This record gives sequence, structure tokens and C-alpha cells, in this order.
Amino acid sequence: MKTVECAAYVATMAGPLIHDGAIVCDRGIILAVGNERELRAAHPDAYHLHSGHAIILPGLVNAHTHLELTGIGQLERPRTFVDWLLDLRTRFGQIADVTQFAQESVRDGISQSLKCGVTTVGDITLNPAITRPILREAGMAGVSFGEVLGMAGRRGQLEGRLAAATDRAPEGEGLVMGIEPHAPYSLDLPGYRRCIEEAVRRSMPLATHLAETPDESTFLSDGSGEFARLWDALGDAGADVPRFEGGPIRAMASVGMLERPCLLAHVNYVSDEELAILAKSQASVVYCPRTHAYFGHPPHRFMEMLDLGINVALGTDSAASAGDLNLLDEARRVHRLQPDLPLETLFEMVTVRGAKALGIGGMVGRLLPGMRANYCVFRVNGKDPFAELIESDPLVLNINRGSAAEQR
Ligand SMILES: [Zn+2]
Repeated sequence: MKTVECAAYVATMAGPLIHDGAIVCDRGIILAVGNERELRAAHPDAYHLHSGHAIILPGLVNAHTHLELTGIGQLERPRTFVDWLLDLRTRFGQIADVTQFAQESVRDGISQSLKCGVTTVGDITLNPAITRPILREAGMAGVSFGEVLGMAGRRGQLEGRLAAATDRAPEGEGLVMGIEPHAPYSLDLPGYRRCIEEAVRRSMPLATHLAETPDESTFLSDGSGEFARLWDALGDAGADVPRFEGGPIRAMASVGMLERPCLLAHVNYVSDEELAILAKSQASVVYCPRTHAYFGHPPHRFMEMLDLGINVALGTDSAASAGDLNLLDEARRVHRLQPDLPLETLFEMVTVRGAKALGIGGMVGRLLPGMRANYCVFRVNGKDPFAELIESDPLVLNINRGSAAEQR
């Protein structure tokens, strides 16, 4: 069905804010975006929706989350990141039916996302066969990154996890499958090379957790520190972890991760030299502000990253650290930390920059003809819609993802 949806404002995120704008969509694809009067005249056959005092934005993009952990809820603030991982593992050990838990968590995560205008996710999953069909059925867009672990006593898991990650059966309607070599403390560098090789061969997006804590450097260089404690606790410690001097960002450069577009979640600990390496690469950084604060990391260098031309997007990470999946609350936190950051840039970080980080910027994240009809509509009353979205808690009036699930 062809529709024309009108509102006081349309933010295409590809040009200036349109006043008294409209978006014309047909069968899940954007046909035109522009002036309301002109588009209604040009498409008299379209079903007409009028949202009045509202802003139409690209569906918001939560570039880094773990929907399958939503049901865990926020864990008690840990002493260290490794304590948090161990607490998470204990909680999972207490769940009787992990499949059912993951299914319910993903459904809850999707519903929390839609409530704040998020239509598109960079979702990390250890259970692709369980979570991907739910994302597809619910009409969510984004990338489902299958998580790949494999180090020391767990090296044998690598190929099985990679096979699960690269199963593209649920792909379609704006949902893409990706590979996430988990982190330099859970996957050795040959394992990273293996993931990258598969991603390149199959043209799949890549993501990883990187420089989340300073312990990654220590562990890479001599196998000691907090992550050695983690491996001891898991009972899978092994002496066969290859050593790397120079920290996690150079480690990624050494395996070729930075030679192509890829998503780096966190990057909380980065030197000037490492920022220069990232600036020369095609990597995007996803900053997760509430999770960052929860773990008590020093201030994130996202402003310098933006100045250096690095693509920075926002994510919630999981509800087990952020508490919930409200992406606008992440943007609000950034605004409080950096009130001088232009709101247009802040909204780029939850739309076009997020889509670029996920490698699907040609499909979602902006409102342009030919892209997916993936947008959200918020009620706004005043003359500065971006400020209103940040300073109040506006109602989501409509969500369109152009998916079959929606057109039913
Ligand atoms: Zn994460």
C-alpha cells in the first residue's frame, strides 16, 4: 500500500530539517521525501496519514546491544568487569530453560526498543538459531552478529560458533547476518583472522568488543591480570594463548580487522597514537554511555574521535549493564556530558552513524528515496524538535519498518 505520512518536521539526516514535510512509501521502500503540499499533489492515490505536531526521523539505530540478556536485568554494580562477567555466568547457570529465556529476552528487548523509536539494532548473539528468527518475525532491521569465542580450552568451539554465525537463512527485510569475534580476551588472534576471512569471503559485517578495560593489553602481552583470573575461574586456562605487545587496537590492525569497515564496541581505553590508527582506518566506534558509567571507566574520548573524523555511534550494550534499552536515554546522557555537541550530530549518532557502523548505511539510517521505509514518528510541540526529544520524553506516535510483519 502506498502511503504519504505528513508531519510538522521531517529529519532525513541527509540534509536540513524539512518543515511541513512528508514521506511517501510503497511496499516497504521510500519513494519520496519533501514538502507536504507537493508530495500530496504528486501522489493523490496514496493513503494519507497526518501526524501533525510531530517529527519523522529515520528509525533509531541501537548499534550495540545483546537482546538475549534483557531478562537478566541490571546486575549489581561489580568491583571489576571480570566480576560482572562471572556474575552473569552464575545467573545463566541458574536458568532452567535457556532457550525459553533467550526467546523471552529478545521479545522483551524488541518491545523496549520500539517504545523509544529504535527500529534497528546491532544485536550480539551467542544463540543465533534462537534469536534470529525472532528478530525476523518481529520485523526488526539491523545486523545480528553471531558471537564467536575460542581461546585456550575453548578453542574447539570456534568452528561451530562460526558456522552458526554465518547461517544466513533468516536474512531479509532489512535484517542482515554478521560475525562478531567476541573480544581479544576470549578469542585468540588466529581466531580473529579466521572470522575476518569468513566475513570477507561472504561479505558479512564484522564487529568486536575492543579496549573495554585496560586489562586487555596486559592479557595480550603476558597472559596475566584480570582476564587470567577469568580463565582460571572458567577452568579453561591454557598456555597456548598467543602473545601480542602493543595493545588491542594494534592487535586488530595486525590481523587486518581495521582494513575494512568494522564495528568496535566501547574503545574506552585509547592513546593518542591509537586514535591516529583508528582515524586512518575504516572502523566505527560504538560508545555505550550508561554502561560506560556503570563500570566507572574514565571519560570516553568520543568527542576527539568525532573531531578526527572517526564514525562514532551510540549503543546501550545489554540491559544487564545499562538497566534497559532506552537509546534516547543514552543520547540524553551524552548531551549532559557534552552540552556543546550539536544536537544534529547527537542524532546522527543514533541514526545515520549507527547504520554506517553496522555496514547497512545504504539501506537504513537516513530518509532517502530507494532506502527502506524505516522510520519513527515522535510527538513534538515546540519549534526545536531535537531539543524536545532530548529534554522531554516524547511519545512515539508511529513506527514503520517497511516489513511484512507490519503490513499484515
Ligand atoms: Zn557488548
